[in-house]
Amino acid sequence: MGVFSFHPRKTITTGEGGMITLNNAETTRHLRQLRDHGAKLSDLAREECGKPYEMAEFDELGFNYRMTDLQGALGRAQLKRLHHFIAERDRIARVYNEAFSEIDWLNTPPVPTEGNHGWQAYVLYVDPENCPKHRNEIMLKLAEKGIGTRPGTHAVHTLSYYRKKYGIQPSDFANSLSAANNSMAIPLHNMLTDDDVGYIVDAIKSIA
Ligand SMILES: *Cc1c(COP(=O)(O)O)cnc(C)c1O
Repeated sequence: MGVFSFHPRKTITTGEGGMITLNNAETTRHLRQLRDHGAKLSDLAREECGKPYEMAEFDELGFNYRMTDLQGALGRAQLKRLHHFIAERDRIARVYNEAFSEIDWLNTPPVPTEGNHGWQAYVLYVDPENCPKHRNEIMLKLAEKGIGTRPGTHAVHTLSYYRKKYGIQPSDFANSLSAANNSMAIPLHNMLTDDDVGYIVDAIKSIA
């Protein structure tokens, strides 16, 4: 299965929701059933069967994970512009990569040689060995200049649910911990102007 999120911060969005792609008819049927409270007969099939009294059978418990038609319409309109959105993000990401390549305490995201990067986010790693300032201090400085940043990821094993369930220590997964503490996502979206990108680059370089 391929699983996609259409959360507002993604390349295309339906407000909330997502999509699963499959190439297996039986699993597809099963997921559609689970999406609709476990109903064996879809609303569409019920409408089309010509028997107004027909009701769905339920042979397992499901969920209400149905996407609304309005969200679906938004997603389909966005899908038409997907290549444009990705190209635009790619263009900005290249400007960032180039601008930050000379800062030795800042690691730019690796770009795979196979396929195209989707640039869901532009996440920098502030190398604690080389950087004179802590990541948080840099994020605060950028916030003062009106530049929004976020940590690039959660260290999932430090969240209390997993910590308690599996008895894990933060240091058990040192790289995840470091990624959570030292990563920084900077603005990357389709409303950024060249001036905005220049302003962000200058602000980060001025910290260097
Ligand atoms: C994608 C994403 C979400 C939402 O994911 P869902 O699977 O749609 O709930 C939330 N936060 C961040 C940082 C994300 O990148």
